[in-house]
Amino acid sequence: MRLSQYFLPLLKETPKEAEIVSHQLMLRAGMIKQQAAGSYSWLPLGYKVLMKVQRIVEDEQNRAGALQLLMPTLQPADLWRESGRYDAYGKEMLRIEDRHEREMLFGPTNEEMITDIFRTYVKSYKDLPLNLYHIQWKFRDEVRPRFGTMRSREFLMKDAYSFDLDRERAVEAYNRMFVAYLRTYHRMGLVAIPMRAETGPIGGDLSHEFIVLADTGESAVFCHADMLDKPIPGPDTDFRGDLTPIVKDWTSLYAATEDMVDMAEYEAAVPAEKRISARGIEVGQTFYFGTKYSAPMKATVTGADGKEIEVHMGSYGVGVTRVVPAIIEASHDDAGIIWPVSVAPFEAEVINLKVGDPESDAAADDFYLGLKSAGIDALYDDRDQPAGAKFAAADLIGIPYQLIVGPRGLKNGEVEIKHRKTGERETLALGSAIDRLKSLIEPQRLDKV
Ligand code: ATP
Ligand code: MG
Repeated sequence: MRLSQYFLPLLKETPKEAEIVSHQLMLRAGMIKQQAAGSYSWLPLGYKVLMKVQRIVEDEQNRAGALQLLMPTLQPADLWRESGRYDAYGKEMLRIEDRHEREMLFGPTNEEMITDIFRTYVKSYKDLPLNLYHIQWKFRDEVRPRFGTMRSREFLMKDAYSFDLDRERAVEAYNRMFVAYLRTYHRMGLVAIPMRAETGPIGGDLSHEFIVLADTGESAVFCHADMLDKPIPGPDTDFRGDLTPIVKDWTSLYAATEDMVDMAEYEAAVPAEKRISARGIEVGQTFYFGTKYSAPMKATVTGADGKEIEVHMGSYGVGVTRVVPAIIEASHDDAGIIWPVSVAPFEAEVINLKVGDPESDAAADDFYLGLKSAGIDALYDDRDQPAGAKFAAADLIGIPYQLIVGPRGLKNGEVEIKHRKTGERETLALGSAIDRLKSLIEPQRLDKV
């Protein structure tokens, strides 16, 4: 992408309404624009990151055997009356009446609708297990939308729903999502710790919130320090096999949110020097809730013995539009965002220091095209602007590698690569720069780990 032809409305000043660094940087880097309280447009640079995040989520959901579909945002109120949640949900639900005075709502989540799809088509135990997911906009009329897309009213969520014959098999489905989540966040460059979480009014004992530690997080959390650097299950993980040992291992160390923590238990389980009591961002939640929806909505299958069985369900959410600011909270410095390569809007940026100088133009053009043919997602700052402004913009938008092309270097047959994360600079012969970038970038895509 040539920057001269791109839409990147950078802000010089830090907007006053933004309280936390990720919100400030997303506005300054031209990623989002607020449209109403808790409602945001995603501008091209932000949307590119959002789509990279979404692709990782899809990749890992698919790997774990979940099937993608798409349900509408507007739902009929009657479905929610069946589960009893139409009245229970309260003011967070946006209720709408259409021209025929039919009651509708903007979905805050989709348990009812997916249960309706399931009961329409699935009749036999032979069709289980089943896990269906979608990535769709949700609306929750939050009392206090804040922190940009971290807590908005309209937000993009991945929500998966599992259907199984009994509790034991539902736990296997739960484990598949648990392991998929470990892999998903890891591939985005995040350390997300599964923590015991509240299951809500209908009981069930199995729920985890996946938490990214950050001072600006809204939840207080308590965990064992060794949770931070546990190895992540690899791509060869057998999702059709028994995942219990992995989940057991991950849940053996203490980790709980404030709603669940028992301080005596925490202090007994974690030696003082290993205690982390911190704040965290909830980037996802997994949930087993048995027959909470299948019972009232009559989602049953015929078992092997011919009897009708209410299916056991779970749901599994990822806050796709929340993950983006969470990554920024975890990875930035005073100059701006530091994107992990796997979610970076562009992997490298060619900076032409002297636009108009024929030699610089020719060399920078060549590098840009060369990067493209090497399969690297590259941005090219071909604008006629002072070098300082270009460096500041590149640092702000957080592109992992800058390839700096200028007349002085070219005279010696050299270019420079700047690593955004470390600030390290390397001088390279013209002919070796692209190979060097490839070798830096490819392993960090984390698409094979
Ligand atoms: P919170 O406690 O932060 O309000 P929640 O527990 O009500 O969230 P869930 O129903 O568990 O949310 O939704 C699944 C995921 O969707 C959450 O883990 C979070 O990442 C994301 N999410 C929930 N509410 C919002 C919101 N208002 N804005 C952005 N993302 C959200
Ligand atoms: Mg939650």
